[in-house]
Amino acid sequence: MQIRIDHHTCIGSGQCVLTAPGVFTQDDDGYSELVPGGAATAARQQVQEAALSCPVQAIALGNGPPGD
Ligand code: SF4
Repeated sequence: MQIRIDHHTCIGSGQCVLTAPGVFTQDDDGYSELVPGGAATAARQQVQEAALSCPVQAIALGNGPPGD
């Protein structure tokens, strides 16, 4: 699964981390980043819920390779 985080849009609310903690984490500044390898094993529904939970629509999903 392809997951993209728009780091210019992310406001560090942490909703994605709460919804899919195996896929998203937060960097030292609180902004979202992908857990290494997390996208490969993630349940699509959980990632979709995380994307929907983002208050600023910073997460985009696709069908390409993980993290691509
Ligand atoms: S839910 Fe959206 S704004 Fe909040 S940390 Fe995740 S990507 Fe950033």
